[in-house]
Amino acid sequence: MSSTCQNALVDTFHRAVDYVRIAVTSQCNLRCAYCMSEAHEERSTAHALMSKEEIITIMNVLADLGVTKVRFTGGEPLLRKDIAELVGAAKKNSAIKTVGLTTNGLLLDRSLPALIDAGLDAINFSIDTLDRQRYHAITRRDEYLVVRKNLDKLLGTGQISVKLNVVLMRDINSDEIRRFVDLTRDHAITVRFMELQPFDDNQIWRTGRFLGADKIQELLNAHYPDLETLTGSATQYFSYTLPRHKGSIAIIPAFTRNFCSQCNKIRITSDGKIISCLYDKKGLGLLPLLRSNACDQALADLFRKAVSQKPEDGKHSASNAVRTSMSEIGG
Ligand code: SAM
Ligand code: SF4
Repeated sequence: MSSTCQNALVDTFHRAVDYVRIAVTSQCNLRCAYCMSEAHEERSTAHALMSKEEIITIMNVLADLGVTKVRFTGGEPLLRKDIAELVGAAKKNSAIKTVGLTTNGLLLDRSLPALIDAGLDAINFSIDTLDRQRYHAITRRDEYLVVRKNLDKLLGTGQISVKLNVVLMRDINSDEIRRFVDLTRDHAITVRFMELQPFDDNQIWRTGRFLGADKIQELLNAHYPDLETLTGSATQYFSYTLPRHKGSIAIIPAFTRNFCSQCNKIRITSDGKIISCLYDKKGLGLLPLLRSNACDQALADLFRKAVSQKPEDGKHSASNAVRTSMSEIGG
């Protein structure tokens, strides 16, 4: 957080909030079985979707409150034609130091040059398998070849920091660890093996597919006895590299570990609600203020209120219910 920011967002438990994830749409062009039902529809109407100007206002108010990192997510953020303009607007604010995007990569081809021009710093590229048929089975769309071509193109540019998000599931893609790790030999990327989380309509995670971080670690160690441990971070709790590999490997124990004590995030849903905790289902609506030309101070007050409601430990808070899809909040 900027040391000059007098208005910093700090919650009741002394955690400073300096990172916002903004879901710019809840629509998606894939239907990953652990995320969305086939029938998933945009719950919010077009009118409820935040406009570019509204998102820019939100980012600028948050930057004044000490937020230095923005991530655009969804649904699929590249479905928005103005995504590069949003990136550019975030980069124009000098208080915002890092702008990232989480995407399934299917539409990356059309937006990559504009995203690079806009100054995008980082892409988390979600791809759970390197096999076409499996990709079809997991995402319910036969789009592997396009996505893979786009990934290769992205890696070819070398201009944006890239992390691969791989949700590892028992007997679905757990035998592909080596194929993913191989990608770190020649590319300075981080392959992140993620635990399945219980946020899906289909409750896949109840079907024995869940692989915990301990098990993922065991599989990695079995394949790679020469794994070198790196200093991790709060989310990339376990981080490794291999001799002569340019990239790194991480395990994200999103379900089995509790990151609450180090949580520095808030989230904004595509229909303009502030979500102060992953497990908060209600949120505080920004649209009434944004659409009545309320001043920035009123928006800042709402952010403060949301942050003051951040629970100490959301995961174990009895009042919070489990979400049915990550697509509303972007992970
Ligand atoms: N559509 C974009 C994508 O897939 O990258 C952005 C939104 S998606 C909700 C963000 C991340 O959440 C993806 O990496 C996805 O794999 C992950 N995700 C979605 N549902 C999940 C679940 N039930 N458990 C673990 N990760 C999940
Ligand atoms: Fe779409 Fe991302 Fe959810 Fe897959 S994980 S259905 S790509 S929002």
